[in-house]
Amino acid sequence: MAPGRRHCCASSCNSPLFPVWLLTLSLAAIYSGVDKSWIGPAFRWAEKLNPWAMPDVFLIGCAIGYSRIEPYVPVSIGAGGWCMISAGLMAMVTRASLDQRSIWRRIQAPALSVLQQEHVTCTICNLLIAASAEGQRCPRCQARVWRRKPYAVERAAALTIAGTFLYPVANVYPMSMFSSHFVHTSHTIFAGVTDLVDAGLWPLAALVFTASIGIPFLKLAGMAWFLLSIRQCSDKKLVLKTDLYHLIDEIGRWSNMDV
Ligand SMILES: [Zn+2]
Repeated sequence: MAPGRRHCCASSCNSPLFPVWLLTLSLAAIYSGVDKSWIGPAFRWAEKLNPWAMPDVFLIGCAIGYSRIEPYVPVSIGAGGWCMISAGLMAMVTRASLDQRSIWRRIQAPALSVLQQEHVTCTICNLLIAASAEGQRCPRCQARVWRRKPYAVERAAALTIAGTFLYPVANVYPMSMFSSHFVHTSHTIFAGVTDLVDAGLWPLAALVFTASIGIPFLKLAGMAWFLLSIRQCSDKKLVLKTDLYHLIDEIGRWSNMDV
């Protein structure tokens, strides 16, 4: 290592891989024939935490952080950083090739004792459960089972209104600050985009602009439309609203990239 040169080592940032560890534990137990009650909850938590792991977003976020720090401090990626990058890439491939339904089928579930009655479906593992058990925990994945999640619309409306107020504030105030003995700089989201443009990193600048400014706006506008439609009991443009909901659900996590 050259004198004064700092290594950027991401090995301490293991949280993105925690769901992968849970997944590995679940799959190891399933394929070794172990029949334990913790396998279902472990796989459920692996699935539940997966949207927060975001190895793809994490890697691009590291690239953005690297590009911001590099003009001020000489940095290089150490062995731990390269291992973390490799692990993140492998985690992305694993998630893309995983068939959740086939995994749930391999996890033992108690058979229904009464077939001729009304049922509800667990939204996590799709197990059929007697409707009389609504509000109780699913016997396979231990998630609580509901026909409709209680107060879902009210919660979504409250969070959307809060987001509508916070969105302009988030774009006016700095998102990150960097201080050293000689330099003190702060970046708003838009300033971060212009810095990337000035550095000639146009694709990265477009990605950050889309993820940090465009997608949050799309999410808030889409959620406001859905909530108003529900309030007015509107059945117009259902296919478009469904497609937009799936789009927001899929790309929404990318809005965390600048953080
Ligand atoms: Zn379940």
